[in-house]
Amino acid sequence: MAVIKFWFSEYTLKPRNKKLPLRLGALLKVQWPDNLVGYADLLPWPDLGDEPLAVQLKGLKKGRMSTMVEQAIWMARRDAQARKEKRNLMRGLPRVRNSLLIQDPDLITEAELGEARRLGFMYVKIKCGKNQESELKLIDKILRMGAFGIRLDFNSRLTLKDFTEFHEKIPTAFQNRVEYIEDPFPFAMDSWKEASQFATLALDGENSRVNWPSMKGPLPFKVLVIKPARIDLNSALDVVNKFGLKMVVTSNLDHPVGVMHAAAIASEVKKSYPNILLDCGTFTHLEYQEDAFSALMPQSGPMNAEVPGLGIGFDELLEKQKWSPVQGIV
Ligand code: MG
Repeated sequence: MAVIKFWFSEYTLKPRNKKLPLRLGALLKVQWPDNLVGYADLLPWPDLGDEPLAVQLKGLKKGRMSTMVEQAIWMARRDAQARKEKRNLMRGLPRVRNSLLIQDPDLITEAELGEARRLGFMYVKIKCGKNQESELKLIDKILRMGAFGIRLDFNSRLTLKDFTEFHEKIPTAFQNRVEYIEDPFPFAMDSWKEASQFATLALDGENSRVNWPSMKGPLPFKVLVIKPARIDLNSALDVVNKFGLKMVVTSNLDHPVGVMHAAAIASEVKKSYPNILLDCGTFTHLEYQEDAFSALMPQSGPMNAEVPGLGIGFDELLEKQKWSPVQGIV
């Protein structure tokens, strides 16, 4: 019987911000019975509830695939198909502008913000919910600069009450510069509806709590964050169209291989939906210390660019990795 073969190559990503933990993931190499070979990335975030890497890889060996593994295989197939056709996945597609990611509000300087503006960033996305005082201070500073629209992402860390209080502290005159607020607290129709009275909400990780078949418009969020590493692209596009949402494609803050997959998908989506796709979040490789892969990518934003090679690029580096068969995992 013809089977799909899997290999993996573990890596560690080292955040430039030393306060953040190392990230353990694996590149996947997939070979199909038609002999096509493609590559993708698998970076679970156990602190956000993902099964650890070792568990996911063992599951793959037994044919029990997490959604992340399924998505990785889907992306590997896209890469494989493009390699077969001798084309780069980014070739000929429109470029997509990304937002500037701020993971730690204490670390960004005014000079860095000015430089980002000069480079062409139009939006900053601030990870929030850890230190309200610093976050509000930075939000206020950026809004006073008048240079950027703002996106806030709480990764569901708040409650409706906390969020309402936080939001009230953003000066009213500036509130329309907040483009949207992502996952303020766990999704529930009533509380999100209430928050949507005073804030524009975006759905990212909380997507997993939404029972789509029972959803009727208007929805309490206006933007859908599409992380191809985590959700099926076509189902996401269906709900965007059905409910008249805007959308953003983002990486999983993962390895450059994952970043380039997300970037290529963002460009494809931009080609089909130029007015529905907002600035994206696929310029994330600089969050980590440079490695051989990220050295081949742009060293300043806000646009990703084609990496030389076929598919997502990185041909020689991918060939040089030490690949272990998933079947050999004990
Ligand atoms: Mg998010």
